[in-house]
Amino acid sequence: MDWELLATELTRQSGLPAAKVRATPLAGGDINRAFRVEIGSETCFVKTNHARLLPMFEAERAGLDAINASNAIRVPEVYQTGCQGDEAYIVMEYIELSGRAQPERLAQALAAMHHCCHPRFGFDCDNTIGSTPQRNTYSDDWVEFWRLHRLGFQLGLAERNGFDADLIDAGHRLVEALGNFFIDYRPRASLLHGDLWSGNQAADAAGNPVIYDPACYYGDHEADLAMMELFGNPGERFFAAYRERFPIDPGYRRRRDLYNLYHVLNHANLFGGGYGAQALRMIELLLHS
Ligand code: ADP
Repeated sequence: MDWELLATELTRQSGLPAAKVRATPLAGGDINRAFRVEIGSETCFVKTNHARLLPMFEAERAGLDAINASNAIRVPEVYQTGCQGDEAYIVMEYIELSGRAQPERLAQALAAMHHCCHPRFGFDCDNTIGSTPQRNTYSDDWVEFWRLHRLGFQLGLAERNGFDADLIDAGHRLVEALGNFFIDYRPRASLLHGDLWSGNQAADAAGNPVIYDPACYYGDHEADLAMMELFGNPGERFFAAYRERFPIDPGYRRRRDLYNLYHVLNHANLFGGGYGAQALRMIELLLHS
């Protein structure tokens, strides 16, 4: 990456005077290379990857812009996406991240974001979950959306990746039975972060909750809550504060694994290992629940 060139473009766009640039690589990203880039007195956060992945950064921008527009929770403001040679990049506000937000503040902010609704389920563009494509074609029917674009999509990938027939067959049986989990429950199409594990949330220097690296779409708010419980536990203080602002249906506990199965199947497709066996166990429990 020619940082001088990027800095020239950014300063021209923002009307700021040209300034000295300094880029420092950061550790921690799962998918992309990440940098802290100082341009004069301004500091940006930049992620880079191969040029063919520009649509991934454009979709990340669309997600961050949508969350930003909700005015519910802090996300980095995106300044620019583009390509330089064979590298794609996204440039955004650098936020000094410090630990975790208080559970009550996070709950309040996420509930407010989840109150931003759309008439349909989906999103204006497709995006990625990890590095896997995530289809967001709008649908009026949540069960159909989850069947086709979430579980069905990952099962198709698992089949192509050569996972055992046990897993694929059980998965298809579950997909056929999806309606059983929604007999008395009609979710709204809430603005979701979409990939809300603990690594994608923090607090800023003032303690405000911050979320980043989203895989946004409009869907059941329970899907975000479930993901928060998949690799961690937001705790009872979080849930109590959340429920005050957005009631959680009593059937959530039953659907939680249905929603998390999507991420476990995605991990199986991305990383293999024990995730295939974990997905099969989850499917069997769901089929018998
Ligand atoms: P990847 O897309 O590769 O998973 P992330 O977007 O998760 O990368 O960013 C990697 C790490 O950089 C995060 O875990 C977080 O600690 C930090 N980070 C993310 N966004 C910002 C930001 N806007 N300002 C400062 N640090 C950030």
